[in-house]
Amino acid sequence: MSYKKIDIHQHSNPVSYLPDGSIQPNYVTGKPSKSTTDEEILLHTLEYMDKHNIEKSVISWSLEHVYKWMDYAPDRFIPGVVIGEAVLQQPYYDPDKLREEIKAGKIQFMGEITSQYDGIPPNDPILDPYYAIAVEYDLPVHIHCLGLGAPFPTFRSQYGNPLLLEDVLVKYPNLRIFVENAGFPFLGEMMALMLQYPQVYADLSTISWYIPRKTFYDYFERLIDSVAKRLMFGSDQMIWPETIEWAVEAFEEAPFLTEDQKKDIFYNNAKRFLKL
Ligand SMILES: [Zn+2]
Repeated sequence: MSYKKIDIHQHSNPVSYLPDGSIQPNYVTGKPSKSTTDEEILLHTLEYMDKHNIEKSVISWSLEHVYKWMDYAPDRFIPGVVIGEAVLQQPYYDPDKLREEIKAGKIQFMGEITSQYDGIPPNDPILDPYYAIAVEYDLPVHIHCLGLGAPFPTFRSQYGNPLLLEDVLVKYPNLRIFVENAGFPFLGEMMALMLQYPQVYADLSTISWYIPRKTFYDYFERLIDSVAKRLMFGSDQMIWPETIEWAVEAFEEAPFLTEDQKKDIFYNNAKRFLKL
């Protein structure tokens, strides 16, 4: 029987999300997505969620695209919103606008924060209103803060150093934040952050299928001993729903994980982080 799961990191992307309007071939296979319309991405995502016992997924993109998915399957998704300009190709959301959406219960999650794609570090004042709103409404937060990202010209690896979040954690001690891909490949910095600040969680998502399996496992295994109770499963599904299956397989086949650790990472840790 397959483990019960929460996918902490998915997107409700439209099929074309690049600035030039083209459709990104799969990063790994170089082939076009099998899902060729916005609707197919949603339907295929739900198929893979059913197949792999994924109860719920946190989704983010523009409000418009998140709400489309919420309308279709409100029990399966937790609605977030991307905070960033380059990724959404629109200005940062007005914090007051988001406040209204949150008050109406339509947004329940802050992020993915993608400011790194704008060449903006996580401790930049531009993000203060969003952190403050997350604390005010007790929303969980997801930030893209790692060495890797999709090839946007304004992306900067140097702003993916997880220790740049320290200022934020000091300023907002009640922030419920997770760092995606556990800040790969900044292992030492991520360990320092998670050990010093026990409120910090991390997902392992894109790197479960995007980088060589051995590199992923080496990184994962180094984190396990200290912070296994704060690591969460994610797929980072964008426009290739099959990546959900790739991610699940990479976790299920990890030779160093115990049964209990798999249950925690697939489900229990996310349930606690999200306060479900
Ligand atoms: Zn993502």
